[in-house]
Amino acid sequence: MSRNRPTLVWFRRDLRLADHPALTAAANRGGPVIPVYILDPLTEAQGAAPKMRLEMSIDALAKDLASKGSRLILRRGEPAEVLAELVNETGADAVYWSRLYWPAVNDRDASVKSSLKHTGVDAQSFAGHLLFEPWTVQTKTGDFYKVYTPMWKSVQGRDVDPCLPVPPITAPAAWPHSAELQDWHMSADMRRGRAIVARHQSVGEAAASERLAEFIDEKVATYHTARDMVAEDGCSGLSENLTYGEISPRALWHAGQRALQEGKAGAETFVKEVVWREFAYHLQYHTPHILRESWRPEWAGFPWNTDDTHPDVVAWKQGRTGEPFVDAAMRELYVTGKMHNRARMIVASYLTKHLLSHWKIGMDWFADCLTDWDPASNAMGWQWAAGSGPDAAPYFRIFNPATQVEKFDPQRTYRRKWIAERYSEPTPTALEYFDAIPVSWSYHFQNGYPEPIIDLGTGRQRALDAYKTARS
Ligand code: FAD
Repeated sequence: MSRNRPTLVWFRRDLRLADHPALTAAANRGGPVIPVYILDPLTEAQGAAPKMRLEMSIDALAKDLASKGSRLILRRGEPAEVLAELVNETGADAVYWSRLYWPAVNDRDASVKSSLKHTGVDAQSFAGHLLFEPWTVQTKTGDFYKVYTPMWKSVQGRDVDPCLPVPPITAPAAWPHSAELQDWHMSADMRRGRAIVARHQSVGEAAASERLAEFIDEKVATYHTARDMVAEDGCSGLSENLTYGEISPRALWHAGQRALQEGKAGAETFVKEVVWREFAYHLQYHTPHILRESWRPEWAGFPWNTDDTHPDVVAWKQGRTGEPFVDAAMRELYVTGKMHNRARMIVASYLTKHLLSHWKIGMDWFADCLTDWDPASNAMGWQWAAGSGPDAAPYFRIFNPATQVEKFDPQRTYRRKWIAERYSEPTPTALEYFDAIPVSWSYHFQNGYPEPIIDLGTGRQRALDAYKTARS
């Protein structure tokens, strides 16, 4: 069989060259490889910050491919049509891609695969986005895990294949036409916040690898204690890279395992956190309703506010609740596209419990603002905080932002970093918030810091009462 016909590699959330099973398989076929990125309607419908960050990631991959004598071909449209066109234009006889396990994508990908196969194209999908594919981890009764700890115990001793090197990527004799990335205007929804949020990103495969190496050298040993301290840089920061596939979860797993063997104390906690991401994906795969509805049906009638224009919700989104820990976190999100995990738990608890507003409002806001937005981890995190998810925080555990600050930001560094109005000499990061927010918010440093929109004790009691009523 001639190997002169190209293989298309359809990149999605796997924007890297190393440890990329689909790319390696394409290269191993022996012919030219044509890397493709398709801006499809599902991606176009995503939130402002994730789309902006994706644009940066596509750009980085295109540059990495160019440095290897290859190219990234950009097209826009429905993948089935675009791939069929590219097969016709290039004479490709194979299309390879990495599985995503997103409910909205799974059916579409299955139909892309079958229509390509129907025309004689070798269409194959590969692993790479997860350590363990959802159907490979089962309880003794053949069910999936609904609780994290038993799942961790079942996978912690598994052999995980080593990472693959970057394969040689042969260019075709002629390249098909490519769109221009800037013509897609993927950052347009960010408006004036774009330049500010962009500054806080660490983009591309090389940056992700460096970040992992630095984390393992300098931080993993203390990760188990530092990871909750919101003002410390004690976490890996790799979620934005994992989200776009700039680094593989296998790279994190193996780095964590090596650190564990070297006796670095926080290494096991780190590997366990990576497995939380797997847990989120497995839940999303087996119970896709986690993305849209309360995972536990008994929460369907809970009297949450569902109006996302309610003044309390608006104050929450804009970081103006008058509760400094919450506001610091919401401003961190708006300025950087990220938020510390501990802070995510606190603002989610505050919205769903103190403000008695639906977790979906928070989930959607995060989906618009997070540059590490991941549907599975976001939905699981929100349902965990609200109490409606599997293995969730019990409803009566209502994080008190005032006591959380004593534990996780005793020096008040985090609040000082993100809130300007409370200080005569605000930090540059706190002032960045006023440059990032839309003019339509009409909020200025001179407004002064707001009074709390709700007394913490009152909010807590209201939530507990609502829970008691709903149960009875
Ligand atoms: P590290 O502490 O260095 O952990 C290493 C990796 O483990 C992370 O990069 C991440 O992939 C994984 N991980 C760590 N904690 C969790 C967790 N609780 N759940 C799932 N995976 C985890 N994470 C996202 O990637 N995207 C989201 O959209 C997202 N939304 C969230 C919403 C809420 C309400 C909550 C409570 C959590 C959410 N998380 C989300 C999980 C977590 O907050 C982030 O993964 C973490 O803050 C990323 O920082 P890091 O890379 O420094 O993590």
